[in-house]
Amino acid sequence: MVEGIKIAGVGQHLSAHFVETELSCQCCGRLLIHPYLINKLEAFRQLAGKPVLVNSGYRCPAHNRAVGGETNSYHLKGMAADIQVPGVAVAELSRLAEQAGFGGIGVYQSQGFVHVDVRDYSARWRG
Ligand SMILES: [Zn+2]
Repeated sequence: MVEGIKIAGVGQHLSAHFVETELSCQCCGRLLIHPYLINKLEAFRQLAGKPVLVNSGYRCPAHNRAVGGETNSYHLKGMAADIQVPGVAVAELSRLAEQAGFGGIGVYQSQGFVHVDVRDYSARWRG
């Protein structure tokens, strides 16, 4: 196991608005999360002013393969999340992600979410 991976605890908060199970792997409940990610997700939540839904947070290697993720995905490092906010357009999510200071921002217009990550350089793309 990669250092820092744990099993998400039900009801355990990572921050004011996020609990461990929201960011943990959907196949096995393992969780690895970079502190910058949760800090920026909180910043995003503040800017949005509404609950943020996490479609995908940490992914173990098997789950990442199962969902067709890239082999170097930041989801594998606990550094990425795919998020949406019901009732908020993807273009606005992208704008809020910029304001929150994420390094990587991928806009998935038709799927209705944005990928955000805390890589240490700027990357922008459309999925
Ligand atoms: Zn898993």
